[in-house]
Amino acid sequence: MIILGIETSCDETAAAVVQDGTNILSNVVASSVGMHVKTGGIIPENAARQQIKSIIPVINNALVDSLQSTVDRSLKVIDLIDAVAVTIGPGLIGSLLVGVETAKTLSYLWKKPIIPVNHLIAHIYANFLTTDSLIKQSSVNSNQLPKFPILALVVSGGHTDLVRMKEHGKIEWLGGTRDDAAGEAFDKCARLLGLPYPGGPAISREAEKHLSHLQVISYKSLKLFPRPLSGNNSFDFSFSGLKTSVYNYLKSQKSKVDRLKLSAEIQEAIIDSLVIKSTSAIKKFKPKSFVLAGGVASNIRLREKLDRVVGNMKFCEFHVAPTPLCTDNAAPVASCAFFNYHPIDWKEISANPQLTIAEGNL
Ligand code: AMP
Ligand code: ZN
Repeated sequence: MIILGIETSCDETAAAVVQDGTNILSNVVASSVGMHVKTGGIIPENAARQQIKSIIPVINNALVDSLQSTVDRSLKVIDLIDAVAVTIGPGLIGSLLVGVETAKTLSYLWKKPIIPVNHLIAHIYANFLTTDSLIKQSSVNSNQLPKFPILALVVSGGHTDLVRMKEHGKIEWLGGTRDDAAGEAFDKCARLLGLPYPGGPAISREAEKHLSHLQVISYKSLKLFPRPLSGNNSFDFSFSGLKTSVYNYLKSQKSKVDRLKLSAEIQEAIIDSLVIKSTSAIKKFKPKSFVLAGGVASNIRLREKLDRVVGNMKFCEFHVAPTPLCTDNAAPVASCAFFNYHPIDWKEISANPQLTIAEGNL
């Protein structure tokens, strides 16, 4: 089965064509991040306006690319595509509406089934995708699909969730952030340090510079900021205190701060919180695979630390997708729709900015 996926939840306009949930035939992303760098963050109306400009060219390019990857070059789009999948939430309402209404129009015109997809669950499905070129970029378990039961940590700009998946469609939410998301913490702390948007990659670059200056990398010495809720039994996270601690620290400094070292401190505080909770959830639930997903999964230090920690536990494999599949794109949307194939009448589909990650919310 070949599915056209459409993703417009935030500032990326994306379309992808995926065969049988795993094989990427095309994957096109247009990002308006350059515009948001100028405003130091996303202004929802600007993002939505960019979505409107990009949606048709992006879908068109994804369809043309996918036709070129087929053996029969005389195929028409209408013969190639079996179904349309679209992100319905969570996200920015103006951005979501562009993708949802376009997908409904295509489904109606082509007379093809349409599958609504939860953006957060789609992030997990980045780990079910394969393409030869992407496999070469990834070091961790890229040649095998995750095995059930799966434990997944979804870390994005707006969400931080730990979930258990017994099989496709059987999701149990274990915990999540009580305030800011991990990506949001990176973005807000970066702003305090005067680093550009998006803050995650910026902090990560500064931290890498600091660590590469040291002769012996001493992560253990990076203890300036707190790891909230780390001693508590829940699988919840809290990141808003970190932003306050960084603010107070900056205010208390009389001389110029070492921005590289501070970036390493912030990165380590966020990553430690994520790793501590993930480790206790793995010990408790003993999954066969631990899956890291969402934009923050691009962070090299987080990938390395979880790879080591999960690897030490022997019974569990660590999975993380190549970076271009961790950040927002439409291939995981098509994959999620294939493995959770529940088409509904296009008239029943609407955008839901507040959608959460829970069973029944696929
Ligand atoms: P998403 O909402 O899934 O698109 O993810 C976007 C979030 O991921 C933003 O908050 C970014 O700052 C964050 N992010 C992207 N790359 C990195 C990175 N290398 N390290 C930490 N955070 C990152
Ligand atoms: Zn996302």
